[in-house]
Amino acid sequence: MLADSTARCVSRRRRQWATSCLLLVACTLLVLAGCSGADAPLSPVHRLADELNPPLDQVPLHCDIADDFRPTIGCVAIVLTASVQDLPRSGAATVTIPITIPKGVKADLLVLEPSVRAPKEQWSRLPRVLIPFPPGGKTELTVSVPEAVKADKVDAQVYLRPVPVSHQQRVTRPLAIGRGAVLSLALGLDAIGRQVGASAVDFRVLAQTRQGTSEILRERLDPAQAATWESHTVDLQRFAGETVSFRLITDVVGQRPGLGPSAVGFPLWGSVQILEPRAREGRRNVVLISLDTLRGDQLGGRLDGQPIMPKLDARAARGARFTKAYTTYPSTTAGHMSMLTGLYAASHGMVFATGNLSRDITTLPQILAQHGYATAAVTENAMLSAYVGFVRGFDDYREVKGKTLWSTAGEIEQTFGAGLDWVEKHRDERFFLFLHTYQVHSPYEPPSEFDVFKHWEKDGQRVPIDGSTPMGVRERHLYSGEARYADAAVDRLLQRLDDLGVLDDTIVVVTSDHGDEFFEHGLFGHAKTVFEEVMHVPLMILSPRLVPASQTIDVPVSLVDLVPTLLDLVRVPAPPGLHGRSLVPLLHGEPFPATRVLYAEAPQWGQTGERVAARSAGFKWIAGSDAEHGTKVYDLTTDPDEQTPLDDPALIGLGSSFEAAYRGLARKRETTTAAGAAKGATPGAAEKPQLDDATLKKLKALGYMD
Ligand SMILES: [Zn+2]
Repeated sequence: MLADSTARCVSRRRRQWATSCLLLVACTLLVLAGCSGADAPLSPVHRLADELNPPLDQVPLHCDIADDFRPTIGCVAIVLTASVQDLPRSGAATVTIPITIPKGVKADLLVLEPSVRAPKEQWSRLPRVLIPFPPGGKTELTVSVPEAVKADKVDAQVYLRPVPVSHQQRVTRPLAIGRGAVLSLALGLDAIGRQVGASAVDFRVLAQTRQGTSEILRERLDPAQAATWESHTVDLQRFAGETVSFRLITDVVGQRPGLGPSAVGFPLWGSVQILEPRAREGRRNVVLISLDTLRGDQLGGRLDGQPIMPKLDARAARGARFTKAYTTYPSTTAGHMSMLTGLYAASHGMVFATGNLSRDITTLPQILAQHGYATAAVTENAMLSAYVGFVRGFDDYREVKGKTLWSTAGEIEQTFGAGLDWVEKHRDERFFLFLHTYQVHSPYEPPSEFDVFKHWEKDGQRVPIDGSTPMGVRERHLYSGEARYADAAVDRLLQRLDDLGVLDDTIVVVTSDHGDEFFEHGLFGHAKTVFEEVMHVPLMILSPRLVPASQTIDVPVSLVDLVPTLLDLVRVPAPPGLHGRSLVPLLHGEPFPATRVLYAEAPQWGQTGERVAARSAGFKWIAGSDAEHGTKVYDLTTDPDEQTPLDDPALIGLGSSFEAAYRGLARKRETTTAAGAAKGATPGAAEKPQLDDATLKKLKALGYMD
């Protein structure tokens, strides 16, 4: 409450100042220009987690409370301290796990998190245990084996978290505080505290100037009540023009009997920032909306005699719609990583929802954060896991979790609602918001008012869909009902952004990570092939001040073009080595290389073998990973459904060159990374795909390239 009222107070004061400025009769044009500074959005000028945290490799930078990840001061590292296989249990209800505390762990108290399983089965998590640091760093932990684990021998593992000292103090370097500055932060307690009976924690922020020290925030959080981040905003106007060192202090309240002098508490400081008004310099807000699994033919498409997404069709007419936009990889993690890095999957390497994005790749939110944007994401969990690297650069990364992984009914409302809540709190800032929803993804269960595609065409007749209708047709119509549902939800979201007064200053992008196939080539779903039904994605860009209206652009473009395009639109330099290019020239009818080669890839488990696709000037090559699958070439101009591969050996022969060029991206990345590491430098990302001279000559001779 305190935080909200303070935030309202700050923004109200700024608006009053703006109003009074505008009312000054004597305000000349020059003065008015100066007054426009009152409309300058707040911009993070210091992110204190970056300044106060040890290097990234030692402590996780982002911590979550209830799946809401913030750059955090106070994250406690999780360490694997025991991993034992085939522990004998001889029918006993318990097993004893030997534990050796890794060197480097220093704490009076430790939380142990044990799990057991029958060999090769799922792990069962057991209750956490709080222990004093054992003498010599060695101990044993006896745990009860759940009844469901029947095996005679079990595997066991134990993770460890050191308990922070009860009094912690972190001090910033002296920071110059400007006019209109605010301190924004969130306080929280790691959920682990509730499970081990932790105490309340007092949080204090002191501001130290040459005149003395003053307390500017004091709050107590109790583990029984603190289930989410608690946001606070502190007006720093009284320090304007001064230099301030901020002290972030936490004290665990009371002591825990039997555990010596240490009290147990897990305080977290989330997204601690100093914000100041900054001129826009032409930089608009950005809202990037990914409707996971939405095919490119839904936006602007018709089914059963009616438009599938009428509301977005109408909005697209106010900006630009790209009718030939393509993903780089037909699955969620890889497609989104290309969307946010401007790199093909061969280079970013994140084709599974595991591992971690290479640290020498910079993501769009990181770049925008470095240029004064407040950044947030609301995603629907699973394949966009914070841990694989999607969290990077975000001040707030929220994973909305459904009842089950694929049960997403109504989740779009929750996801967009959380995004709007964030915008409402940050509308005075220059912001980037990324929203991701699985609403269109299977299972296709649109609410009844959107389940409107009830007929199909059979033998030239419009007939009702019923149990005898082929499954692919039935599912396809239900799927479009989900698209219609998402259409209404995005429209409401944009209307709400307009109500909040930010839409005119915001670049809105609506796109998707891949499509879905309905047996067009014998398969169902996605992540198996690189045919158009899974590679073609919608793309529309709206910005009343930057994107001319009524643009329908038929030039082939890729998700790797999004990062350079958005950075171009907000006048931020793109990092070197991106695979995409800015589409801004297309928005203004300026020259653009229409014959460039775009690439894509399908995963190894695809039923048709690992595939690399390339497209240029209306032709598409699909190269298999082995001789059995060979290379096929389609003329998309005359055969858009990819049913009849061309029988032209010269054309087919180019497929292996395209594949080699694409695979070369991965090798270049390894080389670049190794060279950069050797020099101790941060290397740029991979280079643009290159074709060898012989291939280029062939393509030009055949008329496929300029
Ligand atoms: Zn997806």
